[in-house]
Amino acid sequence: MKNLQEKYEPVIGLEVHAQMLTASKAFCGCSTKFGGEPNTNVCPVCLGMPGTLPVLNANLVEFILRMGLATGCAVPHRSVFARKNYFYPDLPKGYQISQYEAPICVNGAVEIDREDGSRKRVGITRIHMEEDAGKSIHDADVDTLVDVNRCGVPLIEIVSEPDLRTPGEAHAYLTRIRQLLTYLGICDGNMEEGSLRCDANVSVRPAGEKRLGTKTEVKNMNSFRNVERALAYEINRQIQLIEDGGRVVQETLLWDAGQNAAYPMRSKEEAHDYRYFPDPDLVPVVVDEAWLARARASLPELPAARRDRFVGELGLPRYDADVLTAEKETADYFESVVGVLNRLGLRSAAENSKVSSNWVMTDVLRVMDGKTGAPVSAERLGTLIGMIQDGTVSGTAARQLFEKLCSDPGDPRGLVAMLGLAQVSDTSAIEQAVDEVLNLNAAQVEKYLGGNEKIFGFFVGETMRRMKGKGNPKLINDMMREKLSRKRG
Ligand code: ADP
Ligand code: ZN
Ligand code: MG
Repeated sequence: MKNLQEKYEPVIGLEVHAQMLTASKAFCGCSTKFGGEPNTNVCPVCLGMPGTLPVLNANLVEFILRMGLATGCAVPHRSVFARKNYFYPDLPKGYQISQYEAPICVNGAVEIDREDGSRKRVGITRIHMEEDAGKSIHDADVDTLVDVNRCGVPLIEIVSEPDLRTPGEAHAYLTRIRQLLTYLGICDGNMEEGSLRCDANVSVRPAGEKRLGTKTEVKNMNSFRNVERALAYEINRQIQLIEDGGRVVQETLLWDAGQNAAYPMRSKEEAHDYRYFPDPDLVPVVVDEAWLARARASLPELPAARRDRFVGELGLPRYDADVLTAEKETADYFESVVGVLNRLGLRSAAENSKVSSNWVMTDVLRVMDGKTGAPVSAERLGTLIGMIQDGTVSGTAARQLFEKLCSDPGDPRGLVAMLGLAQVSDTSAIEQAVDEVLNLNAAQVEKYLGGNEKIFGFFVGETMRRMKGKGNPKLINDMMREKLSRKRG
């Protein structure tokens, strides 16, 4: 029997909700701050009291335009808000303001990096604005509690074309979307806290088939890993179902990370007839050329451009450039370290870039281990690397010092003295150690002079050991070579 993975082709489309980092809500002046006392960030507008009128937050439009432009979307002249009607205890208005038939951004794309190193274009159908609903807290002891702080919090929804083919591609797509959102400074990208949410639509079809199969929608994944796992689970379930003679029914499933399985939502919750209609309280959003030009001018350097600049201008390998630009925070940090070294001016800009890249990619990212916030400020790391360049410390001592700097806020130069890590460049001390090594190892010296050049490394190693690792390696090498050639002559 043909391998089932080859017999079927999965098709995936993602809907990503991203909470915008505006200070106030989408249609009123309430704060968007996360984690406040329940039901304190509210007003008559976001509670939908009769007689109140929503006023669109201009920053929300600025933010979504940035994302639209960064993903190559077209921005129709006019877009329209619509009401999405449904009843739920955490939705006091009885509807969410969203965009339906006329979204603000359409027909974009992003490029993703596949696992095999190739790149792929993934279409973006639309990006629209909407407001969040409140939150129901199901407390086993009491009852269900409602917190409406999130009502009216501004979101954008990014809808992809059904262009993704594997859970890995879905992961790469999400990575790219989050990277863009955080570079643009419009979303913090935190999936665990819910500022980034993803619903995954998935179907399978016989390999070679052009028509799409019936899809299901999986919700409730709170990490990229879980999106990947949920997709793998659901693809497998659909294939097994079809193999067993069944048919996929269109439904919404909830991912249960603990069970590593997805379960259908209760059909009552799922049945949706939102009866969208244009919101009569809000005028259409008109984005003219001038506004678009301003939005375009406000775009920062995007990740792909930055990566190419790191390769083209700084001379970094493509691999380094990818790692360093994955997160804006890392790229900013790296460039600050390079700036410190370039100001010191001890080495060429290319050397400074590569040595900074090595430190950031290995030592800094290792200590950070996925957390945010560098363990040592760029200024201090730059100073540290500068001390290797000017011969104050050896590379080995610098690594010890780096560990220390992670927990000690002291000045790197002061710490060198305190920890006794300074490199010995005093030629008389080096000469003394070199002489001692040569005197103590007369037999090896004979061998060296007899033609065994490989022993040279041993002499240098012994000298370094006598100097407790602090001898300046270049000076030791030079001195040793000179002494040995004198013996030869
Ligand atoms: P709905 O009407 O259920 O909202 P849409 O056509 O608006 O569906 O698409 C929602 C998301 O589902 C989009 O990301 C789209 O790419 C994806 N999608 C649509 N049809 C399929 C399918 N057959 N298989 C997988 N994904 C799909
Ligand atoms: Zn409000
Ligand atoms: Mg839809």
